[in-house]
Amino acid sequence: MSYVFPPPPVVSVPVLGSAAQFPVRRIYCVGRNYEEHAKEMGFTGREPPFFFMKPADAVVPVNAGQTGAIAYPSLTSNLHHEIELVVAIGTGGRNIRAADAAQHIFGYAVGLDMTRRDLQNEMKKQGRPWCIGKAFDQSAPIGPITPAAQAGDVSQAEIHLNVNGAQRQRSTVSKLIWNIGETIEHLSAAWELQPGDLIFTGTPEGVAAVVAGDLLEGGVSGLGSLCVRIAAA
Ligand code: MN
Repeated sequence: MSYVFPPPPVVSVPVLGSAAQFPVRRIYCVGRNYEEHAKEMGFTGREPPFFFMKPADAVVPVNAGQTGAIAYPSLTSNLHHEIELVVAIGTGGRNIRAADAAQHIFGYAVGLDMTRRDLQNEMKKQGRPWCIGKAFDQSAPIGPITPAAQAGDVSQAEIHLNVNGAQRQRSTVSKLIWNIGETIEHLSAAWELQPGDLIFTGTPEGVAAVVAGDLLEGGVSGLGSLCVRIAAA
């Protein structure tokens, strides 16, 4: 096989305790999956889960103990942080039942669903796709994947985000409106999941703006932490 230009490199995320990387295929994201975040976005109640995507190459992998960097993106003056538990799929499938979902999970990571909130809000108002608000370059910083066997039960884990040392977001994964199994059930009814897929499961309340120079430190108990610096544009 030859190509008319070199194909892009495979995007991958480090795996704790392994020299091998996790190759990323797709990034699925769940919208408004914690009640208090749904409320701060102006919604209430339990709605059916809905999804959006980011391109695989939006991933910015950050190794354990290191601080990653992303550039403040163009076109926005309201860049928001959303700390999220990320599920890494190791075995694909379609129409996966919630009760069987665990068999499809390779591991878990801490991720940031960075959002151009001003542009997302404008697209919402106009009934247009969220891509420009959600799926921009470097919009998915992610820490190393902890294999499921080492992570244990993450369903009650604490999740938090600090900016410059001050707490911005703090909740527990048990407050997910659609839990991990239910999310995989809904997602795999719409798309055939494949190894390499990442699922950003949603963010708790407390989303807010960051500016160039800010240091974000987020974590999920049992999965370590993710540190990212916002660099100048
Ligand atoms: Mn999100």
